[in-house]
Amino acid sequence: MKKRDLERLKRKLLKKREEILSKLEELGRETSEEGETLIEYYDKAAFQFNREYKIALGEKEAEILKDIEDALRKMDEGTYGICEECGKSISVKRLTAVPWARYCVECAERLEEEREAEASEEYY
Ligand SMILES: [Zn+2]
Repeated sequence: MKKRDLERLKRKLLKKREEILSKLEELGRETSEEGETLIEYYDKAAFQFNREYKIALGEKEAEILKDIEDALRKMDEGTYGICEECGKSISVKRLTAVPWARYCVECAERLEEEREAEASEEYY
C-alpha cells in the first residue's frame, strides 16, 4: 500500500474514533454517578473491549471502535490492510469505504453468510 493511502486512511480512522469517543464522553457524563466516567475508563483500559462500552454505545459502534483500535495497532505493526482470514491484501477501494475492515470482500461476504446461517439455525 502506498504511504499516501495509508496516511489518508489513518486520518479517517482517527476521525471516526474521535466521533465515537466524543459520543462516549457525552454518554459518560450522563452516567457518571459511580465516580468514574466511561471516557476515563476507556483511556485506562485502552484496547480493551468490555460490556460498559457495549451498553453505552450500542453493539454496532462498540464493535467499530474495537475494529478501529485494532486497525491503528496494525498500522503501527505494519500489518494493516491484510485480510485476517485469508492473508491477502484488502483493496484500497474497500479500505477507503471501511478503513477498519478486517477482511477482504470475499471473506467478509462468506463470514456474513455463515453468521446469518448460524443465526437462523438458532432461531429455528
Ligand atoms: Zn480474505
